[in-house]
Amino acid sequence: MAEPRPLRVGDALKKKLAKLGLHTEADLLLHLPLRYEDETRITPVGRAWGGVALQVEVVVLDNEVQFRPRRQMIVKASDGTGEITLRFFSFYPNQQAALATGARVRAFGEVRGGFFGLEMVHPRFRVVSEDEPLPTEMTPIYPSTAGLANSALQKLINRALADAPLEDTLPDGLRQSLKLPGFARSLRYLHQPPAGADVAPLESRQHPAWQRMKFDEVLAQQLSLRRAYLARREQGAPVLVARDDLGARLLDSLPFGLTGAQLRAMAEIAADLAQPYPMHRLLQGDVGAGKTIVAALAACQAISAGWQVAFMAPTEILAEQHYLKLSAWLEPLGVKVAWLSGSLKSKTKREQLAAAAADAQLVVGTHALIQDGVDFARLGLSIVDEQHRFGVAQRLALRKKGSNPHQLMMSATPIPRTLAMSYYADLDVTVLDELPPGRTPIKTRLVADTRRDDVVDFVKKQVEEGRQAYWVCPLIEESEALQLQTAEDTFTQLSADLPALTVGLVHGRMKADEKQATMAAFAAGEIDVLVATTVIEVGVDVPNASLMVIEHAERFGLSQLHQLRGRVGRGQYESSCVLIYAGPLGEVARQRLKIIFENTDGFEIARQDLQLRGPGEFVGARQSGVPLLRYADLELDAGLVEQARGVAETLLKDHPEAAERHLQRWLGSREELLKS
Ligand code: ADP
Ligand code: MG
Repeated sequence: MAEPRPLRVGDALKKKLAKLGLHTEADLLLHLPLRYEDETRITPVGRAWGGVALQVEVVVLDNEVQFRPRRQMIVKASDGTGEITLRFFSFYPNQQAALATGARVRAFGEVRGGFFGLEMVHPRFRVVSEDEPLPTEMTPIYPSTAGLANSALQKLINRALADAPLEDTLPDGLRQSLKLPGFARSLRYLHQPPAGADVAPLESRQHPAWQRMKFDEVLAQQLSLRRAYLARREQGAPVLVARDDLGARLLDSLPFGLTGAQLRAMAEIAADLAQPYPMHRLLQGDVGAGKTIVAALAACQAISAGWQVAFMAPTEILAEQHYLKLSAWLEPLGVKVAWLSGSLKSKTKREQLAAAAADAQLVVGTHALIQDGVDFARLGLSIVDEQHRFGVAQRLALRKKGSNPHQLMMSATPIPRTLAMSYYADLDVTVLDELPPGRTPIKTRLVADTRRDDVVDFVKKQVEEGRQAYWVCPLIEESEALQLQTAEDTFTQLSADLPALTVGLVHGRMKADEKQATMAAFAAGEIDVLVATTVIEVGVDVPNASLMVIEHAERFGLSQLHQLRGRVGRGQYESSCVLIYAGPLGEVARQRLKIIFENTDGFEIARQDLQLRGPGEFVGARQSGVPLLRYADLELDAGLVEQARGVAETLLKDHPEAAERHLQRWLGSREELLKS
């Protein structure tokens, strides 16, 4: 790739521009205005009225600094049609000098009808001579940072507009078929709209020139992801073709048959694993859809091809549960399973490490799997459960434990389609869109905390019927100590409320073996009610538990609530989720509870969540450093994403140089960050 054109400015300015994310000349060009001010016209003071931003040209009649009720400079001025006061609460001596009696100034600002007549507070102003020509363009107002004047930015950008090559990276025919205006024309129009232009569609970003910019931005992202996708296909990977009937024997041993969706997913994954390039597939399915067995079958294929499988989960509890389940399934079939977690005693850990480096066929674990010192003999497939809980770097670290192993990622936090297409476009996605049969839908109830006693009675009834319940204690994000205290208080309170029942407690600060013992007791039915923090949020699977109570539900995020609710409704019993809330509710909290109450489909919840929160938090982009789209909005501009995807493919195939220039312009040095 050619070097991007650098900024031609001094070091101090360079630092300020860097704060705005502006590193190259192209960055500067693509720094687009937020809004515009019309300094192309002058309004006579006599015709100005309150509430409107406009420009007047006046001569200063009097300039006075007052100290009561607070320090301020009051400038009285007139243009012959009326008088106006310019009021400044902070000002420099040179400004005071400039606004001396007799000075002619153009002031731009919102006019207010004050007690003493019209006034402008802190107008932008410029001292002018008589007959100074008016600008012929609207004044763009740019996002800026402290110490960087709008006029300075404007000057830099105008210089770049005059000097930089603004060639169109879309071939004409393609551009016309997309009904998009030219790049140079659009860019100039946005930075320098002519006098009289209607700025409303510019400010709302609906103008065709804006459409072009948004399209280009989304296209750059698609190009980058598509290129990563193609590059992956150039890498060699182990060809995993089953050499025995391990998978079939696992299927035979199950007490259930696979759903159609599971069979389809299995077939897709099986085909990928047999390719000579690494699989990079996301298996997406709502909580309870049955992803684990699909992963286990993929593992069987790799194992029977003579390779090792790593299976990583984000929490100790979940990893342990997977270990128990997978070894129960696979050890009877002769598969050697190892287990790695941070809390293993050193002797056991040494044994498990040795196994991973030698003859273990499946290694299950937490983040412990990606630590230094963990070596695999022949890693052919890495499986990451609840992949959104891991950062890009961690997923990459697991892949690095082998040489281009295949990768299967799983997530129960469904990613809305537009997000999947933009942030995960170099992934292949398989969706489990069918729940195993016999599940009864979960009833969700919203209960005010004044009726907590009723909920306690309900728990009692459920247990009398032979079921078990989770009771999730209030989330205290600010303080771990307080969270711990809350968990213990809830446990004490509930034990007192339910003297005849066995109440257990599990939280994040417990030692791993204590946690383990508690979870095992709950799974075995020895605990009736499990008080828990969100450590049980993901993956935990105890089919006999049919009731989920969440206290202070208004403090939880939507995906958390959906995940927690997904802990029940896993067996044949009718299940319910009781959300206890404490009023008064804020607007967002109310909306969240409404969404979770009205929807059971994880995709729909995720879609609404995206609307409520924006994409940043969704993909964990803030942690991973993936730059978010600056201009396009994934929900509002979903159509553009679809289009750009196709165009990216065409461009890479038929116009690789244009694709290169486009990437350079829009991503410059940032492209590396997008790769995952
Ligand atoms: P998730 O997709 O949330 O990870 P799990 O893999 O934990 O779901 O599966 C949820 C429960 O459903 C488990 O108890 C699992 O054994 C069971 N299960 C999976 N597939 C089927 C099926 N086809 N029929 C019946 N039960 C199934
Ligand atoms: Mg799971």
